[in-house]
Amino acid sequence: MHKKVLLAGLYSTPILIGSHPKGLIGSVTRTFDVVIAGAGVNGLACGAVLARAGMTVCVLERAPWVGGGAVTREVTLPGFKHDLYGSSHVWIHCNPDFTEIKRELAAHGLEYVPSEDQITGHPDSGGGPGIVIYRSIDKTVASIARYSENDARRYRRIYDDFNLVRDGFLKAFFSPPVPPSLTAQAMERSREGLRRLREFSLSARAWVEQNFSHDFVRAVMLNWALAPQILPEQEGAGQSFYIMIPAIHVFGQSIPRGGSQQLPLAMSRYIEARRGAVLTGSPVSAFLIEGGEARGVQLADGQQIRAARAVVSALDPRQTFRRLIGPEHLSEDFLELVDAYSFGRISICRAHLALKEPPRFTNGPEMSACAFHRIVDSTPQLIKQYAEIAQGIPPSDPFLWSACWTLMDETRAPHGGHTLIVDTFVSNWLADGRTWEELKESYTREVLLPKLRQYAPNIGAETILGCYVDARESLEAANPSFVDGTTNGGERVQAQLGYFRPFPGYAHYRSPVRGLYMTGPHCHPGAGISAAGTIAAKVILEDLARERRRV
Ligand SMILES: Cc1cc2nc3c(=O)[nH]c(=O)nc-3n(C[C@H](O)[C@H](O)[C@H](O)COP(=O)(O)OP(=O)(O)OC[C@H]3O[C@@H](n4cnc5c(N)ncnc54)[C@H](O)[C@@H]3O)c2cc1C
Repeated sequence: MHKKVLLAGLYSTPILIGSHPKGLIGSVTRTFDVVIAGAGVNGLACGAVLARAGMTVCVLERAPWVGGGAVTREVTLPGFKHDLYGSSHVWIHCNPDFTEIKRELAAHGLEYVPSEDQITGHPDSGGGPGIVIYRSIDKTVASIARYSENDARRYRRIYDDFNLVRDGFLKAFFSPPVPPSLTAQAMERSREGLRRLREFSLSARAWVEQNFSHDFVRAVMLNWALAPQILPEQEGAGQSFYIMIPAIHVFGQSIPRGGSQQLPLAMSRYIEARRGAVLTGSPVSAFLIEGGEARGVQLADGQQIRAARAVVSALDPRQTFRRLIGPEHLSEDFLELVDAYSFGRISICRAHLALKEPPRFTNGPEMSACAFHRIVDSTPQLIKQYAEIAQGIPPSDPFLWSACWTLMDETRAPHGGHTLIVDTFVSNWLADGRTWEELKESYTREVLLPKLRQYAPNIGAETILGCYVDARESLEAANPSFVDGTTNGGERVQAQLGYFRPFPGYAHYRSPVRGLYMTGPHCHPGAGISAAGTIAAKVILEDLARERRRV
C-alpha cells in the first residue's frame, strides 16, 4: 500500500486530461510519464501495468480504433462482427503478470466466454470420426485412441510432462529471455535434461514422426504446431509441442464477448480511468530524441507528446528504427541488425463469411459443435503446401483453419446468423508476378471454399450472405506492423528467438536509445494475444527503481 502511494507520488506529472479518443485538440504539447506508440494488445498491456503502478500513460494509435491485431469489424453485413486478425485467446490466460489486470478489466466491459468442452475439431477427410481436442485430457485421449491407442498414450505422456515443467516454462515465456548457454547448461547435467534438449532441437516434422505413428494423428499435431508460422523442417521447433499442445487443457481457450477488440477497448478504458489517455487517429511520425535520450513522440500533424520517464515503441522494428528515428541517433552496427531482421515470407489468405447457419461437418455432431477447426488431410498434404509456399505458388490443396465464434458468442451476429473465418497460409509473393490483391477473391471462390465444402457441404451460395477477403496487401494497409503481409512479427527461426529476438544484445526490451523501450511480436516471446507487453513494463519499472536508488 505504502509502496503504491509512493510510486504514484513519484511518477505523477501534471497533465491536461480530457483527452478525446478521436485525437488531440489544439496544438498544446502535453507531458505524460510514459508515452507508448501503438495501441495493440501489447502496447496497451504495457500501458496498463505502468498505469497500475501509478504512472500517467499516453498511448498513441494511427488507426481510428484501438486493437491493431485484435480488431472486430462489420466488414460483410451490418451486425456481423468479424475478428479480422487475432481471435483465439489462449496465451493471455497463461500470463501471470496480467492475471490481476485481466480481472479488473471486467469493470471496464471485458467478459471472456470460455470453450466449455470441445476446443478444436480436426475432421477426417476419409470419413472417420476425426479428432476433437477437448478441454478434458481424458476425452481428448479417447478421441485420439479411435485412430491409435499408442498415439493416444503418447499424447497423455506429453501432457503429463508439461505439468512437470509448466511453471518454469511459463516464467521463461513471460520474462526477459536468458542466454541460450544457461538453458543448455541447466539441462545437460542430467540424462533426462539431455533427452529433452535433444527433443527440443528436432524439427516439427521429425518430432511428430518420432512421437506418433498414425498419419492422421501426425498431420493434426504437425498442423497445430505450425500455427505460429514455423516451417515443418525448421530445426529447434520441438519444444513448441511441450507448450502449445498441453497448455490448451490447462488454460483452455476463450473469446471476449462481442469480439476480440473488446480486450483492447477495455484496456484503453482502464488506462484512461488511471489519468492516462489513449488517442486514436494519431500517427506517430518521429520519436523525439534529445541529448541521446528518448523524450516523447511527434505526431503527423506536428504536435508533440512528451515523456517524463520513458517512451515505448510497440511498432515493428523496421518502422521504429528506419523511419521514426534519424540514423544519426543509431550506430551503423545496430542498423545492420535492423536490416537483417527477417519478417519471413508467409502470409495468409483469409475469408470472413456472414452465414445463415453454422458449418455442419459430415463427421458428426461433436465435430460440428466445435467453434474452431483445423482441417488437414495428411502429412504429405502439409509438406506439399509448404513446398508450394517456398516457390511462390498459391497452395493447390490447402489445409484450412476455420472459426465460427458465433457458436460461442451469439452477440456477434444478428439473431440466427453466424460468422465464419476460413483461411490458409500462403506465400507473401507470387512467382507468376500477380499480387494477392488480384488473386484473393478467386482463390477464395475456387480453392478455399470448395476445400471447406469437402468437410462441411452446407457452406455454399444458399448459406453465404456476405464475404470479405484479406491477403497480403490489405493486411499491410490495415496495420504497418503486418510487414509484407506477415502475421507473426518476424520469422520464428532459431536466430530470431529468445535471446536473439529481435536482435542479439537487445532481447531485454531496451533499445540502444536511452529511455526508449520495445514491445510487440518481434520481441520475446513473439506473436499472439498474450499481453506480453507486461514484460517491457516490468523492465521499465525496474530501470526507474534503479535510477531512483542511484539518486
Ligand atoms: C490474420 C492474423 C490472425 C491471428 N490470429 C491469432 C489468434 O487467433 N490468436 C492469437 O493469439 N494471435 C493471433 N494473431 C497474432 C496477434 O494478433 C498479434 O501477434 C498481436 O495482436 C500483436 O499485438 P501487438 O500489440 O504487439 O501489435 P499490433 O496489434 O500490431 O499493434 C501495433 C499497433 O501500432 C499501430 N501503429 C503502427 N504504426 C503506427 C504509427 N506510426 N503511429 C501510431 N500507431 C501505429 C498499428 O495500427 C497497431 O494498432 C494473428 C495475427 C494475424 C495477422
